[in-house]
Amino acid sequence: MALDNNEKKILLSEKDMPKQWYNINPDLPKPLDPPINPQTGKVLSPDDLAILFPMELIMQEVSMDRFIDIPKELIEIYKMWRPTPLVRAERLEKFLGTPAKIYYKNESVSPAGSHKPNTAVAQAYYNKKEGTKRLTTETGAGQWGSALAFAGNLFDLDVTVYMVKVSYNQKPYRKTMMRMWGANVFASPTDKTESGRAILAQDPNSPGSLGIAISEAVEDAVKSGGHTKYSLGSVLNHVILHQTIIGLEAKKQFEKVGDYPDIVIGCVGGGSNFGGFSFPFVHDKLKGQKIRIIAVEPDACPTLTKGPFAYDYGDTAKMAPIVKMYTLGHDFVPAGIHAGGLRYHGMAPQVSLLKNENIIEAVAVPQTTVFEAGIIFAKTEGIIPAPETTHAIRVAIDEALKCKETGEAKTIAFNFSGHGHLDLGAFEAYLDGKIVDYEYPEEKIKESLEKLPKVG
Ligand SMILES: *Cc1c(COP(=O)(O)O)cnc(C)c1O
Repeated sequence: MALDNNEKKILLSEKDMPKQWYNINPDLPKPLDPPINPQTGKVLSPDDLAILFPMELIMQEVSMDRFIDIPKELIEIYKMWRPTPLVRAERLEKFLGTPAKIYYKNESVSPAGSHKPNTAVAQAYYNKKEGTKRLTTETGAGQWGSALAFAGNLFDLDVTVYMVKVSYNQKPYRKTMMRMWGANVFASPTDKTESGRAILAQDPNSPGSLGIAISEAVEDAVKSGGHTKYSLGSVLNHVILHQTIIGLEAKKQFEKVGDYPDIVIGCVGGGSNFGGFSFPFVHDKLKGQKIRIIAVEPDACPTLTKGPFAYDYGDTAKMAPIVKMYTLGHDFVPAGIHAGGLRYHGMAPQVSLLKNENIIEAVAVPQTTVFEAGIIFAKTEGIIPAPETTHAIRVAIDEALKCKETGEAKTIAFNFSGHGHLDLGAFEAYLDGKIVDYEYPEEKIKESLEKLPKVG
């Protein structure tokens, strides 16, 4: 039930910013299947992870506490861009002629231009506290690499980024951003790691993939020993935990205007902006609230809609833990679509479990229709969205158009995960009619799924 109001930007004051993150682990309808050590084939122990992550993050990964305090120092850093506005997209509503109300949570106002700094600063903080000197990571479109470069700089940590080659070439300015914040950036596959060299030997022109870049970053951290750790920008429980500040803020904002969403939407790559925005609403749904929660993925990488729910490696070289998730197979290399952040073969185990339990829904959308939605959004609301974000916009528009047919005045909310100021090459290609839809890569996925590990 909604009250009438004219507020377009629903703002929270800094003092009303959430002081705790929401951990969905204790509320999941069943426990997550345990992650498996890829070397031993046995259930992974916290000690196995200690070579990659600081202990505090490992404890968050397995925590059963529903709320976890945000350290004071981090709250002060969050204030650089948080709380972020929840915005009523009135001009978009008018353009569509829909009775629905559309809101978006604008995470593009962060320094790196996306939701990713929410976890980057937290990971840098805990690493610094435990004596880490250097962080390695991978990046797809460059959003995560720039977020971690920004965060590493705040805490005086060195940052090494393996950037998927197709994005490195498509998005050179992301690389410049990372370098401005002090990071070292390499186009993956590189010849600096065994995993990278193995890929190059098979295919010297490999466009790279997130799975390959993860292998390189993990190998670099493991082989460098004690003071170098690895940092992941999505998929893991602790990453989504840090991102829940998005949904917790949004709930307070809806409360402030006396509204509550009927539909919550987010795009999914590894699942972190979707999980961060939606899990506080999933919490309500599990307690009986009527609400639809929709994850949107590209049809060129249809993990949730076409993959099986199975144990698989998190990376191509089988160095990362084996987890139960929706997957297209660890050596599936998706087509070089422009939404680089959505080209991951797997999905967060928490998001996967919720999909398997039918608590959330998933849809896959083709590339041309998401660019169309992105242009509509830029023309009506003014902000240029990231190609990843346009996936969420597409489905928000589709749901609003359904309301137009039925005359229902639903409240639709989506997470505006990032801006596209450094993705203009992709929009240029769209405007020039050069964006194509890819056919569902059935054969490639089938082949890749034959290589799933046998567990249990
Ligand atoms: C990285 C990224 C995504 C996809 O990653 P998730 O972990 O699924 O959120 C989506 N949108 C933007 C703008 C991104 O940078």
